[in-house]
Amino acid sequence: MPSTWDTLLAAHQAVSDPRRALVPEHTPVAAILTCSDARVPPSVIFDQPSGSLYVVRVAGNTATPSAIASLDYAVSALGIKLIIVLGHTNCGAVGAACSGQCGGYLEAITKQICKLASVHDVPNIDQITEQNVHATIAGLTGAVSPTGSAIRGGEVRVEGAVYDLATDSVLPARNL
Ligand SMILES: [Zn+2]
Repeated sequence: MPSTWDTLLAAHQAVSDPRRALVPEHTPVAAILTCSDARVPPSVIFDQPSGSLYVVRVAGNTATPSAIASLDYAVSALGIKLIIVLGHTNCGAVGAACSGQCGGYLEAITKQICKLASVHDVPNIDQITEQNVHATIAGLTGAVSPTGSAIRGGEVRVEGAVYDLATDSVLPARNL
């Protein structure tokens, strides 16, 4: 029985999708900071080919130091003018934070979300998801780095959105 890796490799070799054609230049049109959730693939959601989207993924889409540093590269070396922070419904990281899993190995991804959830007796996961997108935008905007400087200077625009898994729709993140 083939391993999962064997199956994935065979699938890659079997199909020659023109959307993943070789792209010599690295000139993406936007950077996206989104969750690691397997159901939230930015290139598929926005129907973009190889080379179009610069993607940074971290569970819970928070502005971690490495996420900011990754975006710094997109801003300073690739000239990105648009950053999209994309949360999603039924997020496991937000769910973990809302159920009080805020310490241990999860702390690096749930710290920001736990702070948002802690002001509610019974936090609503999808409401916290929208707030978390805005908290991430605030984190990027305040970053002492090329990303923060470019956002504050108006050279880079930031859009916050939530992907609804149930309806396959991307909606602006409300500032609740
Ligand atoms: Zn998630």
